Amino acid sequence: MSETYNKPLPRLSAANQPFLDAAREGRLVVQKCQSCGKARFPAASICSNCLSPDAEWIDTSGKGTVWSFCFFHRQYFKGFEAEIPYNVVLVQLDEGPRLYSNLLGVANEDIRAGMRVRAHFEAVTAEATLVKFMPLNEGEE
Ligand SMILES: [Zn+2]
Repeated sequence: MSETYNKPLPRLSAANQPFLDAAREGRLVVQKCQSCGKARFPAASICSNCLSPDAEWIDTSGKGTVWSFCFFHRQYFKGFEAEIPYNVVLVQLDEGPRLYSNLLGVANEDIRAGMRVRAHFEAVTAEATLVKFMPLNEGEE
């Protein structure tokens, strides 16, 4: 945790509060439709599959697969200048939803679509913990 964290932070809203609260506790949660069972992220007031407003928050395994990735070679956001080029990955969780994040613990040139990854929680301020990803260890599925 840094007193001088100067990158953009998640914006708190009633919709994403459960996600951010869980991240602070080291859990990756998504919404699950109580009508059709589809898991979704980001939070939404209705299910995109069946339009039901009934949803609950569920813990995920925190595991997923790199679905796509790219590298940022320009500084679009304050605070990233020391990390250029940095990766941005789209991870498909085993539960289905996809989320954008960064992959840590691996060189950019070694990132591949299909890599198995797990959530890694990075507390950047007292309020904000970011969900990032790390490669699964050898032998883990
Ligand atoms: Zn549904």
